[in-house]
Amino acid sequence: MPLVNARDMLTKAKAGHYAVGQFNINNLEWTKAILLTAQELNSPVILGVSEGAGKYMCGYKTVVGMVNGMLEELNITVPVALHLDHGSYEGALKCIEAGFSSVMFDGSHYPIEENVEKTKELVAICNEKGLSLEAEVGSIGGEEDGVIGAGECADPEECKKIADLGVTMLAAGIGNIHGKYPENWQGLSFETLDAVQKLTGAMPLVLHGGTGIPADMIKKAIDLGVSKINVNTECQLAFAEATRKYIEAGKDQQGKGFDPRKLLAPGFEAIKATVKEKMELFGSIDKA
Ligand SMILES: [Zn+2]
Repeated sequence: MPLVNARDMLTKAKAGHYAVGQFNINNLEWTKAILLTAQELNSPVILGVSEGAGKYMCGYKTVVGMVNGMLEELNITVPVALHLDHGSYEGALKCIEAGFSSVMFDGSHYPIEENVEKTKELVAICNEKGLSLEAEVGSIGGEEDGVIGAGECADPEECKKIADLGVTMLAAGIGNIHGKYPENWQGLSFETLDAVQKLTGAMPLVLHGGTGIPADMIKKAIDLGVSKINVNTECQLAFAEATRKYIEAGKDQQGKGFDPRKLLAPGFEAIKATVKEKMELFGSIDKA
């Protein structure tokens, strides 16, 4: 099945009280692991690409070519969206041009008026091309591709303002952080989430920084209207740990253990296991 935008899968998720995972990709192994797991578990999935990862993978056209090739060669029939993560305005335009099916415009660092103006322009373009658009209000904490946020809580009125522009899904800062959570983390602000959900109604809400949020908090966030959860760091940690174990066990020095297809296999399996665990937690299995 060709790429789809994220609108239908997230509308269904919101109505069905589960969430679709966005798993960020870094290379061929990542992409294949995520797509195969989604297919095996009959789950919709969103492949996330940050601007940095896009550059690393030789540009958005290369990413689109790789993903479209895999959808066909692996006979993927579950709904798959290819989504720009934390895009700049220019980055969003490039991805739309390259064939992504969904983009995020992160205008959270602009004054709200400028965020509104730029988001409005992208809503018009995405509607015309049939793409889904994610907007962000209130920056997400931690660091992602050099963008450092303080983990603030979004103003629910500002969220409504952006939601009313016609975006498909909305990321609101609710004390969540990219990367690993610090020991003294205060937890998610369900008060903020509840207030945002009440004002934005049927709009699917997005939870960034899914790595390390306790399962009960994830479940509560889904109850309060979160229908898309972004996972990135957790797959990276799982991949690194499995690869380290392989090397530390000296397996790369046994037989043809140095063959990249063998060397990268444990990391590949670790990503699959992480994606499976998340899909179980988010409730998206058999929802394709
Ligand atoms: Zn994010």
